[in-house]
Amino acid sequence: MQSITVLGATGSIGTSTLDVVARHPDRYRVFALTAHQRVDALAALCRRFRPEFAVVSDAPRAARLRSLLAQDSGATEVLEGAQALAWVAAHEQADTVMAAIVGTAGLEASLAAARAGKRVLLANKEALVTAGRLYVDAARAAGATLLPIDSEHNAIFQCLPPAAQADAAALQAGGVRRILLTASGGPFRSRSLQELATVSPEEACAHPNWSMGRKISVDSATMMNKGLELIEAHFLFGLPEQQIDIVVHPQSVIHSLVEYLDGSLLAQLGNPDMRTPIAHALAYPARIDSGVGALDLPALGRLDFEPPDPSRFPCLRLAREALRSGGGAPCVLNAANELAVAAFLGGRLRFTAIAELVERVLEAVGSRSAPGSLDEALALDAEARALAQAGIPRLAA
Ligand code: NAD
Ligand code: MG
Repeated sequence: MQSITVLGATGSIGTSTLDVVARHPDRYRVFALTAHQRVDALAALCRRFRPEFAVVSDAPRAARLRSLLAQDSGATEVLEGAQALAWVAAHEQADTVMAAIVGTAGLEASLAAARAGKRVLLANKEALVTAGRLYVDAARAAGATLLPIDSEHNAIFQCLPPAAQADAAALQAGGVRRILLTASGGPFRSRSLQELATVSPEEACAHPNWSMGRKISVDSATMMNKGLELIEAHFLFGLPEQQIDIVVHPQSVIHSLVEYLDGSLLAQLGNPDMRTPIAHALAYPARIDSGVGALDLPALGRLDFEPPDPSRFPCLRLAREALRSGGGAPCVLNAANELAVAAFLGGRLRFTAIAELVERVLEAVGSRSAPGSLDEALALDAEARALAQAGIPRLAA
């Protein structure tokens, strides 16, 4: 019986995780569930999964959750704040932690899980982009097992030789020449640059193949998501930037590929449903039912590929440059992007200004050194956000 903490239980990944967990009551038990604002949704999950702990962001929400759960048998203790998040992530009774909080907000708790040597199911890619070296070093030192949830990284993991799954250092020796991340191209794959200037948040969040949270949906539309994933792949698999390529594949059926020295390309295919990588990571190395139907190849008929277009999707270039320059640049890229995406979703920034704002912040503080501690990472993140915030009025004008 595996005991699980789900950080970000009310989100898209959290919900899919609990869907898989509910299919296997003989294998999994929920230890803790956390959410930011959606107290009603978290209360419903607590009634259904009866965790020992539930965590929300602040005291008023905790009080509301307590009152919502008062009529129940009192099975769940309610806690609040960032410290409580890290505490349920590192608790000795949790074997596995699903890290599915969106953004740098998830870094501290994801890192706490790694430092406690947990089996970490890592969806929170921003944690790796912000503090990749720190994160993987901490996980290795503590003997944590990192299992990627991002569909591309999970696909790559599945296509690696077992020795390289256990330790990224064995990747080169395993004959890997490069990895290929597939990208759907998002909802604006065939829009012109001119059209992109006026797209709305609703259009940006209407992804053709995947149903996801709003932040990652906008990242998919700008293709910054693929840029973040490039950096994520670098830290997870220890490959230099030149050995990680991106190919646009609009059907989102091939989730990524690994190319070997002999010319073989291994791919993982499946319907675009996050329950597949989640079930894979939950049960690894076993296989369990995820609730996802089989892929119908004849119905699919064809698979298409094209190169990404750097002129319409400049975020790809910014992410690659940030990874190439190293140090604190990925952290700055991520922080500026989070703020720019929030401004776009709030109607304060045009879609095409997201990349412009990120580029300006990178020019200002992208040459900082890599954060050596959680505090340094959070400080650099805050500095980049403040600069991005200050840059909004000029770009909005
Ligand atoms: P979402 O917006 O649907 O859910 C986010 C979760 O994080 C919610 O439970 C929310 O309560 C919690 N949260 C948000 N801000 C918080 C804060 N300040 N403090 C504490 N909790 C907070 O997002 P999602 O789509 O589920 O994505 C979660 C993570 O998984 C992201 O890092 C995303 O990049 C990654 N991911 C998602 C998908 C997908 O299909 N949705 C695919 C690959 C990777
Ligand atoms: Mg992905």
